[in-house]
Amino acid sequence: MKKIMIIAFVLAFTGLSYAQTEQDAVKYAETITEDELYDKLSILASDAMEGRETGERGQKMAAAFISDHFQRLGLKAPVKSGTENSYYQPVFLYSAVPGDTYIIAGEEKHKNFDKIIYYGSSSSGAVKETEVLFAGKGSEQDFAQLDVKDKAVIVMVDNPRAWKAPHDLALEKGASLTLIVSHKDDAKFTEYGQLFKGFLEGGRLSLEKPDMGGSDPGVFFIAPSVAAQILDVKKQRLQDAMEKGNLKKIKKGTFKYHMEQKIKEVESENVLGYMEGSDLKDELVVITAHYDHIGKNGEQINNGADDDGSGTSAVLEIAEAFVQAKADGKGPRRSILFMTVTGEEKGLLGSAYYTSNPIFPLEKTVVDLNIDMIGRIDHKHKENPEYVYLVGSDRLSTELHEISEKVNETYTKLELDYTYNDEDHPDRIYYRSDHWNFAKNNIPIIFYFNGVHDDYHQPTDTIDKIAFDMLMERTKLVYHTAWVLANRDQKPVVDKPQSQNLGNN
Ligand SMILES: [Zn+2]
Repeated sequence: MKKIMIIAFVLAFTGLSYAQTEQDAVKYAETITEDELYDKLSILASDAMEGRETGERGQKMAAAFISDHFQRLGLKAPVKSGTENSYYQPVFLYSAVPGDTYIIAGEEKHKNFDKIIYYGSSSSGAVKETEVLFAGKGSEQDFAQLDVKDKAVIVMVDNPRAWKAPHDLALEKGASLTLIVSHKDDAKFTEYGQLFKGFLEGGRLSLEKPDMGGSDPGVFFIAPSVAAQILDVKKQRLQDAMEKGNLKKIKKGTFKYHMEQKIKEVESENVLGYMEGSDLKDELVVITAHYDHIGKNGEQINNGADDDGSGTSAVLEIAEAFVQAKADGKGPRRSILFMTVTGEEKGLLGSAYYTSNPIFPLEKTVVDLNIDMIGRIDHKHKENPEYVYLVGSDRLSTELHEISEKVNETYTKLELDYTYNDEDHPDRIYYRSDHWNFAKNNIPIIFYFNGVHDDYHQPTDTIDKIAFDMLMERTKLVYHTAWVLANRDQKPVVDKPQSQNLGNN
């Protein structure tokens, strides 16, 4: 009798407290509004932020905006920086950018990006002089006529994108360098060169210093007049020899070249705001979104309103809701880290840096809820826009998936679309945003995503196209999921751990 009474009492009590916390969760969810999301996104996606290019001024401004928000909310700055604490976790990035690179043909010196373009990551050291053969289209038959060992080769292609196969074949035959004639006239080539210049000078950012001593020397793209100059023939004769395949008609030439790559260092930062939990404060719930984007194309700004201004605004709003709850004595039992990360667009660099240099132990990190693009409606859901794609919820923890489903059933009632969660889906979304860096450490994750749209990575990804009602609903779903995960007795069980070191997708 006694025993039963105690159980009844416990049931009644936990039932009551559960109902209470449910009510509380709903109360603070009401602080997540379309207007407030709009206010935040209108700043993040404004032209003033210049597309939030990683390491550039606009990204720094966005970081300042986010950390200021965290500070005003009273979140803790969790990163030790000397004797101070900071909201910023510095992330050092590197890229290789072209240095002093040129070709000397005859007496004339051609500098990079005029009539020549170097595409590769080698440095030649001193100026080199080499013999060069004309290898036509660079086919097997062409190479069969020639002994290219330790010589450079000139190859003509129809289309600049077709450079790789002849280059690989040239290297296989022992050639030391490939020169690609990619256009029929110089003017077209120069135009192309200017496009390429912007791309190459941006460099490709990475967490590691680029390796300059690779075995591939790279390729020079050259204008047709430069090829004629090097081989000391008329352009038309090259064209004829290529078409007829009688390459021996063209005598070998010589030229000098120099290539140099410089390492550019870029400092960026993850922005972290921390809320300490109560009785389970050693355990951590992480909520992430990337706040950087792809900057500008010339004068056109890629505002990145959906990607990922939407997710960043959501994180800020969720933080606000939890702060209000805590102020009323309804703070979470587990601690929560609100983290907007950098370098996502460059290869998930900020989150990779965090999980390699965690501020809080990964063993105590119970989940990462990651948001990237939740403000739009894709073609598939035009008629029924109350949806969100979920990816990864069941990959490591069946329980997490069940919690997520239950939360949605209870509070938000969205259609949870698992299309992209299919392991065989060609888009491989599970590996393509920041949650992956947590998942590969066997931390269960859920990824929230609206699917792709025509404005993806375009200057047209602007705030006027955001469906704020859906942005709000999806933000609430993440918030409620975080609430339950931060307050329930047990953390979600990892019943399907993956073997470690799965690599970077
Ligand atoms: Zn994104």
